[in-house]
Amino acid sequence: MTCEIIQKERSGVINPIFTCQPAGAQYASIGIKDCIGIVHGGQGCVMFVRLLFSQHFKDNFLLASSSVHEDGAVFGALNRVEEAVDVLLMRYPDVKVVPIITTCSTEVIGDDVDGVILKLNNGLLKEKYAGREVHLIAVHTPSFVGSQVSGYDVAVDAFVRHFARKDQPNGKLNLITGWVNPGDVTALKHLLDEMQVDATVLFEIESFDSPILPDKSGESHGSTTIADLTGTADALATIALNKYEGGKAAKYLEDEFGIPAVIGPTPIGIRNTDTFLQNVKKLTGKPIPQSLVRERGVAIDALADLVHMFLADKKVAIYGHPDLVIGLAEFCIDLEMQPVLLLLGDDNTTYKNDPRIQALQNNVEFGMEIVLNADLMELESRIKNKEVELDLILGHSKGRFTAIDNNIPMVRVGFPTYDRAGLYRHPTVGYAGAIRLAEEIANTLFTDMEYKRNKEWILSVW
Ligand code: SF4
Repeated sequence: MTCEIIQKERSGVINPIFTCQPAGAQYASIGIKDCIGIVHGGQGCVMFVRLLFSQHFKDNFLLASSSVHEDGAVFGALNRVEEAVDVLLMRYPDVKVVPIITTCSTEVIGDDVDGVILKLNNGLLKEKYAGREVHLIAVHTPSFVGSQVSGYDVAVDAFVRHFARKDQPNGKLNLITGWVNPGDVTALKHLLDEMQVDATVLFEIESFDSPILPDKSGESHGSTTIADLTGTADALATIALNKYEGGKAAKYLEDEFGIPAVIGPTPIGIRNTDTFLQNVKKLTGKPIPQSLVRERGVAIDALADLVHMFLADKKVAIYGHPDLVIGLAEFCIDLEMQPVLLLLGDDNTTYKNDPRIQALQNNVEFGMEIVLNADLMELESRIKNKEVELDLILGHSKGRFTAIDNNIPMVRVGFPTYDRAGLYRHPTVGYAGAIRLAEEIANTLFTDMEYKRNKEWILSVW
């Protein structure tokens, strides 16, 4: 059997898997404290992205728009940036970090965002906001290349480049989580706490699972500070969990400041979590404690209850962010499932050279197809044309109608997942994530067995 990597043949995209680059930059920026990004483009470039964030987290996030109109699209719209920065700083006296996030329109008209930042630094900020700490940072995210995935990577890199400064070694580990959920951050912090490792979790979004407090202070905003970002150059090492969502910044810190970088693997499943802990051990010298050995044992026990009896040989399609899809595919294989179709949804031509993809190519013992530059129509048409028989779909909520229309059970994972309650609160990574994911998969298959009256009696004697 073979694993084939193919490019989507059809031109155009029908039901895209991702939205565009500026969305990723906006996600990175809401992970920083005292930061409000200005998206330099039409209002929709913010409005629809904020809507996705709100749908996924059921909370509100602060993002601004330079609100470019027809005249700006023709004659240039840098005056809108100048106005937007001034209004934002007046309206929000605590804001210190203002990324100017470009879009397709403002990149096409060639607005010199770096130039206007220089002008504002030497003009408005000195004259009207003298004595106030304000960082204006250009984040170039034209939407006609890449996707929200590369947009996140570009923004993380821009923030780290802007702030990182060498001072005294701080003995901390930089952790770039990539585009994760609050439940993942909690799970990662737990692993690091158990190992007694002092880490700076960058673009830290645990507080997106925010409370409603009596004094109404429970707003959702990230908690990475300017000091955290500045101190990245003094760290012991950097671990970027996702190659395509933070890998660039980890590499920059290594090249520029000699901070050793470990990029990946995404700690989904037992073996990748093991590797993550081994990497932490190697970089910090801290041993893996007995408590985590026990947690691992609990996870293996939970998986052993499910694998052979219910999960083995189940055929799965997976779509979403590349690191997530690869991590999930590896986990599915460990669960004896068959991830027969992987859909990677943007124009990044380097995916095929990813060693994890090459390992899948070399090792799978069933027919697998990895489609690059894919969209959800690829999934839909393969199902309709009976090119693939699926027992399960793993992906975000945008594929829900493919699952519903074709009567295929689906487990929601990734971003955005707005049609199931509270998923952002639960981890996908770590041993806790492995248990949750495997049980969610099993329970979804059980419900399907009952609904379709397909050997549902087994569940009575299990
Ligand atoms: S594709 Fe362009 S216009 Fe549309 S949301 Fe993205 S940046 Fe804005």
